[in-house]
Amino acid sequence: MNALAATSRNFKQAAKLLGLDSKLEKSLLIPFREIKVECTIPKDDGTLASYVGFRVQHDNARGPMKGGIRYHHEVEPDEVNALAQLMTWKTAVANIPYGGAKGGIGCSPGDLSISELERLTRVFTQKIHDLIGIHTDVPAPDMGTNGQTMAWILDEYSKFHGYSPAVVTGKPVDLGGSLGRDAATGRGVLFATEALLAEHGKSIAGQRFVIQGFGNVGSWAAQLITEAGGKVIAISDVTGAVKNINGLDIAKLMKHSAENRGIKGFEGGDAVDSNSLLTEECDVLIPAALGGVINKDNADDIKAKYIIEAANHPTDPEADEILAKKGVLILPDILANSGGVTVSYFEWVQNIQGFMWDEEKVNRELKTYMTRAFRDTKEMCSSHHCDLRMGAFTLGVNRVARATVLRGWEA
Ligand code: GLU
Repeated sequence: MNALAATSRNFKQAAKLLGLDSKLEKSLLIPFREIKVECTIPKDDGTLASYVGFRVQHDNARGPMKGGIRYHHEVEPDEVNALAQLMTWKTAVANIPYGGAKGGIGCSPGDLSISELERLTRVFTQKIHDLIGIHTDVPAPDMGTNGQTMAWILDEYSKFHGYSPAVVTGKPVDLGGSLGRDAATGRGVLFATEALLAEHGKSIAGQRFVIQGFGNVGSWAAQLITEAGGKVIAISDVTGAVKNINGLDIAKLMKHSAENRGIKGFEGGDAVDSNSLLTEECDVLIPAALGGVINKDNADDIKAKYIIEAANHPTDPEADEILAKKGVLILPDILANSGGVTVSYFEWVQNIQGFMWDEEKVNRELKTYMTRAFRDTKEMCSSHHCDLRMGAFTLGVNRVARATVLRGWEA
């Protein structure tokens, strides 16, 4: 199912559970603003290349809009729209004072040189600089972008508006980035998984994990889960998949991946088919890559007892239904991966205060926020008799709806 159709379906189900007024429901679904810009750059060989950049600002009832910028060949309007909407509910679930946005450029970042990526990022920033800002819309990294991308956006934005470190988060620490931001999404996944397992009398130690994706989120999650005593038995990335039922050596896999631009060829396990990774025998499955990977075609074959959605919208609604019947518990994306945007909020707060926190404080606060978001979600599950996805959606949608009504519509 298309990402926007899936996200909107979840939203509508939550609106129904909450008994939202239909006019309010409609206004919450329509994005605040959708931006589409042409980005043309000279390539290193002197030829021109044109790309399309997007920024969808979904909602700002609870504060400045917030969300990543993705560089990926599959970036298209409906997907950016869905991801922007998810950010609105995610920031509300995390209870941080933001709305939701998402951006992206349809490109294959791996095929561009560093200087081409820099030119593309600067051109994109020139096109949207008037529409982002510390108190309007604050971008961050997402798939295919990183701290360096944020540094270029910050520099280009500052040419127009003066030096403004808080206009982006996920920056390098040397430019006002927060300690702990790089690991934050993976660490948040760890805290959320701990909270879920604890409900069932279990801990990370002794559980077998399978992780799809070995980028920023997947690699940090793998590292932190291993440190907590979990056994990561299979991992995949775009280059391939590797399995070792005795547990993969994550430090060695990180080194191999950095040296070989991917996990393919890693000798500390057996190469397996990436397509069957999600259906491997395990206790906890963590999709940490693209959306829509768990769908009606493979849901019935999933053997995990728990799915922790480190990626955004990895599970189609049809798969949700199949997995619910099988008794598989799903910790939804807007809760499970909210650690990244939560530490983005801490970074923005530190920039505005002009004061830097130590890493221990960042991680401690992150744990508090993740544990509270999990507890608040569980309360919604009890009061609305629903699963964790609807618990998180009703929690997020209700907070945004209340803020919207309080602010009013009077022109
Ligand atoms: N791109 C991340 C997400 O999907 C982080 C967004 C942010 O920090 O603003 O949640």
